[in-house]
Amino acid sequence: MGKTFNFGAGPAKIPEAVMEKAQKEFLNYNGTTGISVLEMSHRSSDFGNIVSSTKKLLRDEMQIPGNYEILLLHGGGTGQFAGIPLNLRAFSKNSESPTADYAVTGSWSNGAAKEAEKYLTVKKVFDAKAPFLGAPIGNTWKRDPDAAYLYYCSNETIHGVEFPHAPETLPDIPLVADVSSNVLSRNFDFTNHGVVFCGTQKNLGAAGLTIAIVREDLIGKHHPFTPAILSYDEMHKNNSLFNTPSTYSIYLTHLVLEWIRDIGGVKKLEELNAQKSQLLYETIDNSGNFFVNNVQKDFRSRMNIPFHVGSVEGKPELEAEFLKKATAAGMIGLKGHRSVGGIRASIYNSVTMEETQKLVDFMKFFQSSHSD
Ligand SMILES: *Cc1c(COP(=O)(O)O)cnc(C)c1O
Repeated sequence: MGKTFNFGAGPAKIPEAVMEKAQKEFLNYNGTTGISVLEMSHRSSDFGNIVSSTKKLLRDEMQIPGNYEILLLHGGGTGQFAGIPLNLRAFSKNSESPTADYAVTGSWSNGAAKEAEKYLTVKKVFDAKAPFLGAPIGNTWKRDPDAAYLYYCSNETIHGVEFPHAPETLPDIPLVADVSSNVLSRNFDFTNHGVVFCGTQKNLGAAGLTIAIVREDLIGKHHPFTPAILSYDEMHKNNSLFNTPSTYSIYLTHLVLEWIRDIGGVKKLEELNAQKSQLLYETIDNSGNFFVNNVQKDFRSRMNIPFHVGSVEGKPELEAEFLKKATAAGMIGLKGHRSVGGIRASIYNSVTMEETQKLVDFMKFFQSSHSD
């Protein structure tokens, strides 16, 4: 079998070097413990060191300011869709009927808004509606001065819509950012942010770990009904070890963070991701509408690049053939999300320029074999 090129959206490719290191010490962590991380008590000093080192590396690589706590949680990004309103609703200036602002730029922010409606009044400052083509971030949003926070998804994984920088917010109203699919892919400015969260299965390792980076002053005012494992306060007081954490996923994220540090950090990755995505978008844009990406140019994602084949809406038989031939050439994970169809290439930090080039070569070959 030839090499497999994984362009899946998540769980996604993990850097080879990380997988090899994990394999090397799978049976004997650190070469000295005689057991696997999988078999290790979460209260042991070895695991305690993994936790503290993971947080330190994340703080260094993401340049997280000192007044933010790093929480290692359960429940995925989806768990945070409930965790955020439960922990933050008390910060709304409307204490009788708390509100929060949501920018809906795709499926994930839409899902977050829907879940939040259980716990507070959601106001949509922007509602892109399907097919979610972009998001103005100028002064057109009608922001609620009573809102507990302003929520946005920095990269919509399904629709390929990414904020080039954080939206503006009113003074004293913190931003909440879902960075699940573009964390550490580019520089992130924490200014005005209250909570920044992600699942780790796209850019930071395996599924099972959720990271929330929470500004200190926002911890401790959660709703009394907040489940302990979603409570920032409870998890913070217990150093994220309130119950058994997803130990192996934390370990893998630790390895990914070491890898990021060793290859030159976010600065290097940002450069690489700009080059990779540019190569793909150029191929799409120069194809004479054989390949089509509909996202407004300023909001095109550098991580997830959805496109259609054959026309603006896509020709289903051509797209099916594209996927079939790509798979035969070892390129997998390219099927668009079931809600939007078409093709989607996810080119996370772990996907190399060579792999991106391989996809582009295949796209050009596919197009040339269909032009007559
Ligand atoms: C994948 C994803 C999620 C959901 O993550 P789960 O861990 O499956 O809950 C949320 N937000 C974004 C932007 C995602 O890409």
